[in-house]
Amino acid sequence: MTFETLGLGPALLRALAEQNYTSPTPIQSEAIPLALAGNDLLGGAQTGTGKTAAFGLPLLNRLSKVTPVNGYRKPRALILVPTRELAVQVGDSLRGYARYLRMSIGTIYGGAGMGPQTDMFRRGVDVLVATPGRLIDHIERGTAKLDEVEILVLDEADRMLDMGFLPAIKRVLQRLPRERQTLLFSATFETEIKKLALEFMRNPYQVQVAANNTIAETIAHRAHPVDTARKRDLLVQILSQRHTEQVLVFGRTKHGCNRLAEQLEEAGLSAVAIHGNKSQAQRQKALNAFKAGKARVLVATDVAARGLDIPDLPLVINFDLPMVAEDYIHRIGRTGRNGATGEALSLVSPDEGGLLKQIQHVLKKDVELIEIEGFVPQRSVRSSSDVPSQQRRKPAHRPHGKPPVRHAHAGAKAPRGTGQGRGGSRNGFAR
Ligand code: AMP
Repeated sequence: MTFETLGLGPALLRALAEQNYTSPTPIQSEAIPLALAGNDLLGGAQTGTGKTAAFGLPLLNRLSKVTPVNGYRKPRALILVPTRELAVQVGDSLRGYARYLRMSIGTIYGGAGMGPQTDMFRRGVDVLVATPGRLIDHIERGTAKLDEVEILVLDEADRMLDMGFLPAIKRVLQRLPRERQTLLFSATFETEIKKLALEFMRNPYQVQVAANNTIAETIAHRAHPVDTARKRDLLVQILSQRHTEQVLVFGRTKHGCNRLAEQLEEAGLSAVAIHGNKSQAQRQKALNAFKAGKARVLVATDVAARGLDIPDLPLVINFDLPMVAEDYIHRIGRTGRNGATGEALSLVSPDEGGLLKQIQHVLKKDVELIEIEGFVPQRSVRSSSDVPSQQRRKPAHRPHGKPPVRHAHAGAKAPRGTGQGRGGSRNGFAR
C-alpha cells in the first residue's frame, strides 16, 4: 500500500516523500480513503499511530480542491485538540504536509497572548488548530468566525472530555454549519464519546487499529516492575546477563530511542536506533548493521519499525509500554515466528500499570510480573493499575433515534488490504 494508491494529490505526495513517509500506517490506510470520500469517521487511535496524517492528509486534500482567495479568509477546517502541546504538534505536522499547497494553518491555545492570534484571524486562516477554551474566547470576541467550516476534527476526544471540555465543545459545535464532515479520534470509545458521536456525526464509519488475533502461542510474556528512572540500568543489567542474543528494544519517542541507544553504547553494548527523524537511508543503514550482527541492540519506535524487514528474534524488550495496547501485538510479532520460541519482556513503571492491564486484556492472558532485586519500585505496578486514572463523569442527555454507527469493513466502501489482522472494526464500537 502506498500513499499514491490512497488517492492523495501530487502536492501532498511530494511533501510526504520529502518527509520520508514511505508507506501509510494502518490507521492511515484505513482512514484516508474513507475521509477523502467525505465520510464521517470515528478513529480509534492514539499518538504514535500516525493519526495526525490520517485526518490531516484527507482534510488538506479536500480543501485544496478549491483555491483559497487572497485576503480575508475564514477557517474551512477546525481541529480541536486538548492541549497546547498537541495544538503546536498538529499545527507543525499540517504545515509540513501543506508545504506545496497555498493554505494557511493557524494555531491558537490558552496561555498565549490574544493579540497575535487576533492578527492571525485578520490575515485569514484556512485550517485552524485550537484548544476549546481559547477558541471560545475568540468566538466571544468575534475574532473567530466558524460559519464556513467544512471539516471538523476532534482529536484525542477522550482526553478533551476528561479535561472537562465537553461544554466548550458543545458551544463550538453550535457555531458550525450542520452540513460538514466530522472526524473524531479517540483512544477509547466509552459511553460519553459514543454519545458525542451519535449526537453530532452523520452515520460515521469506524476505523480502528484492531488486535491481531493470531498471537503466537510460543511467546512468553513477562514484565519487570521498575521505576522509570531505573529502566536504563535494568536494561543494561538484563543485556549484560544475557550476552548472546540480538535484541529489539521498543521505545515510545524518537528522542528517547536515540538517547537510549547512545546510553547503551556508553555502557559497552553496541546499539543503533531507528525512528522517524532519520531518513529511509539512515534507517536502512542501521537495520543493515543490526542484521549483519555489527549492532546487538536495535532501538526503535513503533512507527519506524513498521514496514521494515526485521528478522525473527528470540527477544523483544518493551522499554516503554506502547500507548495503544494493539501495538504491543505488533511489537511482539517480531519474535516467536513460525513456531520458534520467543520472549517479550516489558519494563513497566508504576505509572504504566493501566497500560499493562489493557495489554493483558488484548492478549486475553496475564503477563507474569517478576521483580528483580535492586529494581523493585516503591509503588506497586499491579495496585496502581486498579486505581481508575480518571474520574468518571455523569452521563449527559442524549437524543434518541440516531442512526447506528457504520463499520468500515461492512460493505463495498471499506478500503481493502488494510494489513494483517488489522482493519475494519470487527471489535465493535463499544469496548
Ligand atoms: P502521530 O501519531 O500522528 O503523532 O505520528 C507519530 C509520528 O509518526 C510522527 O512523528 C509522524 O511524523 C510519524 N509518521 C506518521 N505517519 C508516518 C508514516 N506513514 N511514515 C513515517 N512516519 C510517519
